[in-house]
Amino acid sequence: MKKDILSLLPGEIEEELAALGEPKYRAGQIFTWLHKGARSFAEMTNLSKELREKLEERFFLYKPGVLRKQVSQIDGTIKYLWQLRDGNAVETVVMQYKHGNTVCVSSQVGCRQGCAFCASTIGGLVRGLEPSEILDEVLFSQLDSGLPISNIVLMGIGEPLDNFDNVMRFLELVNHPKGMNIGMRHISLSTCGLIERFADLAERDLQLTLSVSLHAPDDETRSKLMPANRGRGVEALMEACRRYYDKTGRRISFEYAMIDGVNDTERHARLLAREAKSLAAHVNLIPLNHVEERQFRPSTQGHMKAFIKILEDEGVNVTVRRRLGSDVDASCGQLRRKMQKANEATR
Ligand code: SAH
Repeated sequence: MKKDILSLLPGEIEEELAALGEPKYRAGQIFTWLHKGARSFAEMTNLSKELREKLEERFFLYKPGVLRKQVSQIDGTIKYLWQLRDGNAVETVVMQYKHGNTVCVSSQVGCRQGCAFCASTIGGLVRGLEPSEILDEVLFSQLDSGLPISNIVLMGIGEPLDNFDNVMRFLELVNHPKGMNIGMRHISLSTCGLIERFADLAERDLQLTLSVSLHAPDDETRSKLMPANRGRGVEALMEACRRYYDKTGRRISFEYAMIDGVNDTERHARLLAREAKSLAAHVNLIPLNHVEERQFRPSTQGHMKAFIKILEDEGVNVTVRRRLGSDVDASCGQLRRKMQKANEATR
């Protein structure tokens, strides 16, 4: 079986070259070609024909196909549905902000976390993405759109901490000076709260932002919305966040999708303010995106205003995320889900 060269770091490509009896310095050239988007060895014209043939025998290269591309008429947000090598599909969103173009990448095909408001989890988990596949989401979003990508959020389909090793390797690849060289401070990793992985992440001492999808500050509401909370609990989550913050010195960000009548009461706001303040955490409020299969609705403007006021009065650092790409199904898993439904209908 041919190996996935794009998932390898330069040092590992060096080892492969040594095994082929080739000089090590070629590794840097190959890595650079790959991370500029070369997807055949034939393109790598500064390598000898003999070496290119050896590489061809040992490694595969694959260029993800664009299954769907939707461009928002409102704000230019682009949503891609990529075809992977095994026929699966994942989504990537490119958003244009003042501070730079941000790509939102998927980390798994499907998801097994079961959040009650999310479209990505409806068909369950198929598999984790390879490091190379996550990298290609960033690289080909940039190449296809012509928008230079400066920021990455791991907030697409899947739970990054449930695909830990591959996600860590993706981070090393995308951060590499000889590759896309995207700084860790420009990367956010979002998790539903797999706290057993927080210490491993803290251990790596990366300068990225850890975003915790909190969505409710109390166990009753959170366990209803997010099965990942059951058996772990908000208190344990807060302790894990505290340890993470102490170890890395990096402030945590709480994601909070406002759901009408579910997590948007004054009581929720007060509890949330307490948790956020004790961790000096930033709170990112998101109006819920309505998902066809789900019964939840976004909070009303009035409830959102009241909620924000409580947080602000308590001195919490709070922002409301602007809704981008609302005309292109630009939230979690909706495009892939549409394709699945269309396939089910034709079966
Ligand atoms: N599994 C990770 C990352 C993927 S989800 C996590 O849970 O954080 C990215 C973010 O989108 C999470 O905060 C998630 O809770 C949120 N989200 C999912 N469905 C949503 C919806 N319908 N409306 C608003 N936010 C949603």
